[in-house]
Amino acid sequence: MQFTDLGLAEPLLRAVREHGYDTPTPIQAQAIPQVLKGGDLLAGAQTGTGKTAGFVLPMLHRLMTTPVVKDARGRSPIRALILTPTRELAAQVEESVRTYGKYAGLSSMVMFGGVGMSPQVDKLRRGVDILVATPGRLLDHHQQRTLDISHVEIFVLDEADRMLDMGFIHDIKKVLAIVPAKKQSLLFSATFSDEIKDLADRLLNAPALIEVARRNQTAEAIVQKMHPVGRERKKELLAHLIKSGDWHQVLVFTRMKHGANRLTEYLCDQGISAMAIHGNKSQTARTKALADFKTNDLQVLVATDIAARGIDIDQLPHVVNFEMPNVPEDYVHRIGRTGRAGATGEAISLVCLDEEVFVKDIERLIKRSIPREVVPGFEPPAGEKAEPIVLGRMTIGVGGTKRNAGGGGGGRGGYGGGGGGARSGGGGGGGGRPGAGRAPGAGAPSGRPGGGGGRSGGGRPPVNRGGPPKR
Ligand code: AMP
Repeated sequence: MQFTDLGLAEPLLRAVREHGYDTPTPIQAQAIPQVLKGGDLLAGAQTGTGKTAGFVLPMLHRLMTTPVVKDARGRSPIRALILTPTRELAAQVEESVRTYGKYAGLSSMVMFGGVGMSPQVDKLRRGVDILVATPGRLLDHHQQRTLDISHVEIFVLDEADRMLDMGFIHDIKKVLAIVPAKKQSLLFSATFSDEIKDLADRLLNAPALIEVARRNQTAEAIVQKMHPVGRERKKELLAHLIKSGDWHQVLVFTRMKHGANRLTEYLCDQGISAMAIHGNKSQTARTKALADFKTNDLQVLVATDIAARGIDIDQLPHVVNFEMPNVPEDYVHRIGRTGRAGATGEAISLVCLDEEVFVKDIERLIKRSIPREVVPGFEPPAGEKAEPIVLGRMTIGVGGTKRNAGGGGGGRGGYGGGGGGARSGGGGGGGGRPGAGRAPGAGAPSGRPGGGGGRSGGGRPPVNRGGPPKR
């Protein structure tokens, strides 16, 4: 099948052709005809499947071919709204709107927190057809009456599972109360928890269902490998792998922000160009890091899970888990950054003894064992003993013991409550807005393991992983 077989308008086909695509990916082949019909859609697809063009192209087609209904003041209203969990994803989706809509004659805008409101207000005043936004800033504008989304014809919820993970459910419900009841709604999610199903029930009307990648399946095109190594030598091993393999465009994951900073400094000291991207970085710094990484001016991007969500880089050759994620689903998301849209990629995990508990959970989730390969000269030290891993306030002990690392009391919950602008989502630059973050002490976001109850499995005593670390 070719793009030309899908019934898209010529200006869109031209833009797609110029962008170098002729064959739609499976999600595009299925989603585009469904969306063109005008009905609602529930799509199971991860990043890397080509899902963005799967909704952007038919959305543009419908907007181009449907007459505009002007508002009471005779102005053209916002006609399509795309909500994303993170700023980076919002920026990338809007870039796709501009790429595919190059000849469509429609205007678009991206809106997220952490940057000034007034340029956004100016842009809104000039008129926008398609708005791509993170929920926090969108609601800020709504509250300040600088935004009118009451004429939206098409509403897209992208990466809905991640939005819920990040505590955006209340914001989403508020947005749903503002957009018109009669509209075309599309919901994209990599996984289908009960919460997602509830949301789909609330939002969608007799939706078409599409699923292109099974839940928690890791792409076949990704070569996964694990290098056991002593905890003190991970940095050295990473620098060795990058230098000896002459790796470029390496996306490296750490669990915590300060770990990302420390590793970045080390790599720079070793003559490897690296930048960190996480929730404490300014939007400008994050945008610059991503742009330099995309153009190959930056060899290594060190990221935390939340910050990396939505990063879209074509055919990223190397993803490295410098630290294994304590949430097994994050492993699937992380390595989904490589081997995208059919390209092959390599996902390398540097694993020390302390992280074996995480590895077990990951292997259980992906239903396969990850091959282990010791790098000569980096053998784990004989007689090394596992040590507990501190995750924010919580400590995951060896064999599942748990203790508070930071004193008693409610402590920190998930992403929102505490410090200013720690979230990578759209909650604005300064501190937790009510309803946007998770309340202090709220524990892990729903849908994730932990969250106060602990779990059992694998012969380990239950462990309470607490809320995710600030990242
Ligand atoms: P997405 O899942 O939307 O984040 O897209 C994943 C990557 O696949 C993006 O970098 C796109 O540029 C790329 N892509 C999307 N559609 C196609 C296509 N039909 N052929 C080749 N690459 C594509």
